Amino acid sequence: MRIARIVDRTAFIMSKPVCYSAKAFATPGATAPLAATTIERRQPTATDVQIEILYCGVCHSDLHFARNEWHFTQYPAVPGHEIVGRVTAVGGGVTKFKVGDTVGIGCLVDSCRTCPECRSGLEQFCPQMTMTYGSVDKHLGTPTLGGYSTSIVVTEEFVLRLPANLNPAAAAPLLCAGITTYSPLRRWKIGPGHKVGVVGLGGLGHMAVKFAKAFGAHVVLFTTSPGKIADGKRLGADEVVVSTQPAQMGAHAGSFDFILDAVSAPHDINAYVSLLKRDGTVVLVGAPEQPLPVAAFPLLMGRRAISGSLIGGLPETQEMLDFCGRHNLTSDIELIRMDQINSAYERMLKSDVKYRFVIDMASLR
Ligand SMILES: [Zn+2]
Ligand SMILES: [Zn+2]
Repeated sequence: MRIARIVDRTAFIMSKPVCYSAKAFATPGATAPLAATTIERRQPTATDVQIEILYCGVCHSDLHFARNEWHFTQYPAVPGHEIVGRVTAVGGGVTKFKVGDTVGIGCLVDSCRTCPECRSGLEQFCPQMTMTYGSVDKHLGTPTLGGYSTSIVVTEEFVLRLPANLNPAAAAPLLCAGITTYSPLRRWKIGPGHKVGVVGLGGLGHMAVKFAKAFGAHVVLFTTSPGKIADGKRLGADEVVVSTQPAQMGAHAGSFDFILDAVSAPHDINAYVSLLKRDGTVVLVGAPEQPLPVAAFPLLMGRRAISGSLIGGLPETQEMLDFCGRHNLTSDIELIRMDQINSAYERMLKSDVKYRFVIDMASLR
């Protein structure tokens, strides 16, 4: 056994692909700021696409990961999973992409491809999915490194086509915030005649408002900030409810088909369950650290449901990008330089961003 293991290890080292250096921003530990460094990427294998990263969105998960708030971060850590770039090389077996194509990479860079989830195009639920950062790289055996970098190499099945009419910087957040909100709206078949609530106007919430409106629903935004009323309407909400006002909330009791809850802070979910019609559903896409207390009675009355949703699979992510191309739909962004990332994190913690930071990766080259 022992000898066999040594032989296997040798075989692994010998089969390790040749690597090249790329610039990146990484953090060496949970309390350290991110700073410039050099990382290794594999040279493209036969089925790989090499991408020069042009833009990378800044997701709240990046901050959780950089600071080890989910307790699985390995350092040095390179966050970033809202990647838009240009193809610079392709392996000999690549058929879907050519040099010069504008492409996107989201939260996943690989999966097992054989389990029922993968065979259903729901790779986000594959028990062996490889996340863009925070997983183990199948080729190198080292932690995967995300999009705060000048370059990345990804197997072609996990590379997405970006419609040419979309602004590439404003399209970057579609790869996580976009698909996270698009997928549940599609899963619950939202369309004309539906009354849809969106809880929270941040990176996720502002995309949910845009998508729900584009699907033809009547959209009601819930926010705790009266200062966000005008912006909510500008983004497409038909009504904006200040959720701290009981009279405003009560006026909508029992009237919603669907409510997308994008809040990751502690909040009263029962208040939203009570706003659903019979068989209506509240879907969580934010992840509060502590469990949310759920009252049974509002669920029993009207057979209402609480569910959850996680990004989307590769086929649906491509469908979402194509939908955005047809509707010229992108994120509202604030473009930053790579060296502004640490202050951007501090502003993100104060919800001081409209509505997504995107890093201009030209600032790192
Ligand atoms: Zn994300
Ligand atoms: Zn799988």
